[in-house]
Amino acid sequence: MPSEQALKARSNSSCELCTSTSDLSVYPVPPTSDLSAQQSIYVCSTCLAQIEGNIDLDVNHWRCLNDSMWNQEPAVQVMAYRMLNKLSAESWAQDAMEMIYLEDDVRTWAEQGIAAAEVSGPTRDSNGADLQDGDDVTLIKDLVVKGANFTAKRGTLVRNITLTDNPEHIEGKVGGTRIVLVAAFLKKA
Ligand SMILES: [Zn+2]
Repeated sequence: MPSEQALKARSNSSCELCTSTSDLSVYPVPPTSDLSAQQSIYVCSTCLAQIEGNIDLDVNHWRCLNDSMWNQEPAVQVMAYRMLNKLSAESWAQDAMEMIYLEDDVRTWAEQGIAAAEVSGPTRDSNGADLQDGDDVTLIKDLVVKGANFTAKRGTLVRNITLTDNPEHIEGKVGGTRIVLVAAFLKKA
């Protein structure tokens, strides 16, 4: 593959997301029609399996994004942004999403992949039950409500939720404040 040498040189033969040096391969960042180095990243098998959804996300592994999100390569920024989006239940990932800097065209590229992934999915709670507008849910863990300075306790009932464009998020009222909640931390009441 012509781009592998270029990627090896660019990455110093290490995973561009987590810096691992074992079992590296070229990953063309979707949607891409060619395998140029500009549109690809060099990743280890651990990162790749999680990017492709073959194994569950290991949240702690992805703390590497706090460093790799500052990489100068647009393709690396795009993957960092998309993985942070998948991890948006984690407050450190939310913080990183707020800090990450993407040029407009890079942001468009990053969000293309997210939108494509999202068209597919219904909104599901922690048990995999479909959620609909108007459902009541309970929190299955304590949640710090960003910006509102309080913690919504595990077991809190949230009535009459609203679905959002993102199947991983719903909106509901907690403590009188309308907030976005992560569906994976909810249970249908
Ligand atoms: Zn890696």
